[in-house]
Amino acid sequence: MKMAETGTILHNQIQYYEELASTNLKALELAKQGAAGGTVVVAVRQTAGRGRMRRKWESPEGKGLWFSMILRPTIAAEYCAQITLLAAVAAAQALQRLTDKNFSIKWPNDIMLDGKKICGILAEMALAADGSIEYAVVGIGININMSSEDFGALLTATSLYLATGIEYEHEQVLKAFLDEFSLLYSHWHSCGFASIRQAWLANSCTLGQKVIVKDNDTEIYSGIAEDMDDYGSLLVRNAAGKIESFDFGEISIRSC
Ligand code: ADP
Repeated sequence: MKMAETGTILHNQIQYYEELASTNLKALELAKQGAAGGTVVVAVRQTAGRGRMRRKWESPEGKGLWFSMILRPTIAAEYCAQITLLAAVAAAQALQRLTDKNFSIKWPNDIMLDGKKICGILAEMALAADGSIEYAVVGIGININMSSEDFGALLTATSLYLATGIEYEHEQVLKAFLDEFSLLYSHWHSCGFASIRQAWLANSCTLGQKVIVKDNDTEIYSGIAEDMDDYGSLLVRNAAGKIESFDFGEISIRSC
């Protein structure tokens, strides 16, 4: 891999914006124009923050850390789902280190604390003609100082402040995440997915749970989430004992 993407470089190329529609959109635009792998785009507020499948991500001004990383991994597209899982492990471990609380990962991309979502991740990729990944953009939203009023009707969400009573600095949270992510990302390039898979499994709240697999709104499969395969797909055993694997491209899995 290109060493330029590891370690401190992720910290050296941080671009701050007062307001963006979405940090992912900006990062995708910059990546298309040739921005270097390792560029990080941070916004104080997003006016159209996005989750998966065009769901909205609430990102009020200054209350959380809304950022996206541009990555140029030198791996085949079949491994691209692993980037989301890697980012989830990095986020869970960074937040654990920072707060001493126990965070868990809900398949595939949500970081949960006490059953509520504290961080969401959205990875988007562009493929090169030879099927490799040209660039990937990984967007992360971490709720830092939101109060219950800030969440309004969103009862499934929490923040570091609500969980700990401490007002963390955005910079501190960003640094904790980038430190953790940089290590895991270079490890992934040199040693593969195995230890990241182990860490994902160890931190997951989805394993052992009943999950329903949906294509758009139609249920297509249900069963118990048993394991993750070497590519990062979830293995689900149905009532008849049959095991099927699912990635999170176009399907949504409900659990926890
Ligand atoms: P999921 O994977 O849980 O279906 P996404 O990853 O697509 O969801 O994230 C979007 C969803 O997250 C929204 O539909 C909403 O329920 C929830 N959400 C939106 N903003 C926030 C936030 N700041 N904190 C926690 N949850 C949020």
